[in-house]
Amino acid sequence: MSDFTKLPHDTVTLANVTIPACLLGQEGDLLRTDIAISGGRIAEARDIALSVDMAGAMVFPAFVDMHTHLDKGHIWPRSPNPDGSFMGALTTVRADSSARWSAEDLRPRMEFSLRCALAHGTRAIRTHLDSIAPQDGITWPVFRELQEDWADRIDLQAVCLIGCDKWTDDDGPFGHTADLVAGTRGGVLGMVTYPMDDLRDRIRGFFAQAAKRGLDADFHVDETMDASVETLRDIAELKIETGFPGRVVVGHCCSLSAQDETRALDTLDLVAKAGIDVVSLPMCNLYLQDRAEGGARTPRRRGITLVHEMRERGIAVSFASDNTRDPFYAYGDMDMLEVMREATRIGHLDHSRTDWVESFLTAPAATCGFDAPSLAPGAPADLVIVKARSWTELFARPQSDRIVLREGVQIDRTLPDYAELDPLMTT
Ligand SMILES: [Zn+2]
Repeated sequence: MSDFTKLPHDTVTLANVTIPACLLGQEGDLLRTDIAISGGRIAEARDIALSVDMAGAMVFPAFVDMHTHLDKGHIWPRSPNPDGSFMGALTTVRADSSARWSAEDLRPRMEFSLRCALAHGTRAIRTHLDSIAPQDGITWPVFRELQEDWADRIDLQAVCLIGCDKWTDDDGPFGHTADLVAGTRGGVLGMVTYPMDDLRDRIRGFFAQAAKRGLDADFHVDETMDASVETLRDIAELKIETGFPGRVVVGHCCSLSAQDETRALDTLDLVAKAGIDVVSLPMCNLYLQDRAEGGARTPRRRGITLVHEMRERGIAVSFASDNTRDPFYAYGDMDMLEVMREATRIGHLDHSRTDWVESFLTAPAATCGFDAPSLAPGAPADLVIVKARSWTELFARPQSDRIVLREGVQIDRTLPDYAELDPLMTT
């Protein structure tokens, strides 16, 4: 669908726009104001003569998608999840990656997702990259190429992804992976944690490797509805014990939602004390969690972590896309407005605080160390503008006629055609 209006190039005041007050550092919910653009940046409105009445259109800074898997993206047609389960996802991706993830296969799929994200209004992305040797040596050079080629459009970071059972100290293969990460701008050390007898030693070793290289840490944690799984506590206790100096973010944390309330809240107190940030991936959780074999049972427990209780404790909470048309999530289009709409519905973000929009903008930027999205004069005019004038209008429709400005210029939002990937999808 084409943009709901065509804006004049560059120097203009967008009069009568609607903005969440928190994005301007003000109290309250939505407010009406003017935003001026000049020289590709937000400017002072009073200095600009040309004005367009935007009739209350909502304006957001371009989005930050801080937890994605670009390397897995779009393999669904050749490697669908056989039963929609977590194990089905894991085994299918493993088979697909070992057989097919050459640079020639990875690059067009990763770039496809970047083109979708750009068209939908995202300007910064962190991706996890499956990094068990020898895959690390194939994928990370492709990532570095893309990071370079896309530098003027999307700021990219990458995290290595391995299960904690594959973790080794610097003498083993993971030492080499950690060096690859450290040698990459925006590289972050990552691991998936699940119960193991010596998990705490592994996390200690992992923190030491990250600290030695000056890296931040990004974990996949407790992505299960098994209430007995609480590796989140281990990570929080060990961050405090080791005094790990980098930023730490944990993704998923689904098992908290299945635990006894008192125990879960005690864990959150620990997470707050440790200064750990959280990213919730509710669309992927809905797809995988509490799915019964054969699909003949209605899911009861929906997997979203305790986002309200986290915010109450001052824990930074973000939401992100996670997987895109791969065995971990069959759908998704790297659209942060979809993530915001779905997270609002799934997590009941409405009828609570008025600053949840920060969880899609400033919170992920701060957690990852990306430039802060801003509407203040001097900030780049990287904006997403929708015809909707209120939250109900925003979340009722997909906003397929939105405007995306990058440095003040209205971009072509044509989405890439899935048929482009057909040559890679032969089975
Ligand atoms: Zn993930």
